[in-house]
Amino acid sequence: MGGPAADGGPAARGGDGGRGQWTEPGAFEVAPGVYRVPLPLPNDALRAVNVYAIRSGDGLVLIDSGWALAEARSQLDDALAAIGSKLTDVSRFLITHVHRDHYTQAVLLRREFGTRISLGTDERPSLELYISGRVQGLVPQIARLRGCGADAIAERFLASIPAGPPARTIWELPDDWIAAESGLAGPAQISVPGRVLEVVPTPGHTRGHLCFRDTAAGLLFAGDHVLPHITPSIGFEPAIAKLPLGDYLQSLRLVRELPDSVLLPAHGPVSGSVHTRIDELLAHHAARLDAVAAAVRSGAVTAAETARLLTWTRRDRTLDELNPFNQMLAVLETAAHLDLLVMQSRLRSTVDGDVTKYWVP
Ligand SMILES: [Zn+2]
Repeated sequence: MGGPAADGGPAARGGDGGRGQWTEPGAFEVAPGVYRVPLPLPNDALRAVNVYAIRSGDGLVLIDSGWALAEARSQLDDALAAIGSKLTDVSRFLITHVHRDHYTQAVLLRREFGTRISLGTDERPSLELYISGRVQGLVPQIARLRGCGADAIAERFLASIPAGPPARTIWELPDDWIAAESGLAGPAQISVPGRVLEVVPTPGHTRGHLCFRDTAAGLLFAGDHVLPHITPSIGFEPAIAKLPLGDYLQSLRLVRELPDSVLLPAHGPVSGSVHTRIDELLAHHAARLDAVAAAVRSGAVTAAETARLLTWTRRDRTLDELNPFNQMLAVLETAAHLDLLVMQSRLRSTVDGDVTKYWVP
């Protein structure tokens, strides 16, 4: 999922060809044989996730699957019917990353239809924690919040998790793992009937995030790596990377070096230039790093204290005005900025008890 924490909030309006909001249900052809299918995310600030259906031979390949929800299932059914297809025509899911709004509907559909699911190798540690059960999967995340000096936010976040069936019922391993390393032959590629997709490893939003690039058609299936109206959350995964923001910025620069292409994001409308949006995201994080350093200079010591001195969402909300989930994302994201500033020698840090403290050298 993308994080509304940084500058987002509800995704902005803007549909396809002026036909309305991007969240409107349907199947929208964005390139020959490629359809954008928005699926609902009720009770989520992101409102919808785009799945992309690609015609491939006699069937379809889907990039991402949506969240395992009855409403998402029936909208996907309707959207495929609108382009003369059925769920049984889907031969494979290529999943950009393991977050529930991208991955979990594929698990349910595979139980029914046996559809093949492929996911990036480096998502495995987090997926195994999700499979271990709802609370257990949250243990590293909660420990991380405590290290941020955010005990109260950790408590509120835990209390906010709705009761329901254990999460493990929607978490299963994929059929195959996509190894993203390039070799002498060039970048890793996935061949599906009629099309070649280049695998672009883009760790940051999650450790094993992948973009898929249709070089011939000039399309980037960007997942949550590049979003048009919000910045993706950083560090929201059970098996967290050591320096997720460093990974993310490096992944942005990597994609910036590829030829420009049409941006097919998982949240938000399609737009014409991946490069333009990456330049904005790089500028955003440079400014955010400065703001985080300034907050420490003015006396914040922990990630939680620093997050309190910043403003959040495009509406400049205070940390206290966010809901527990977004407070959690905000604190983790602040920690990711602080840790990168330490790596850049702009700040120093020490661990005092469980809590990491920062200062200006
Ligand atoms: Zn997402």
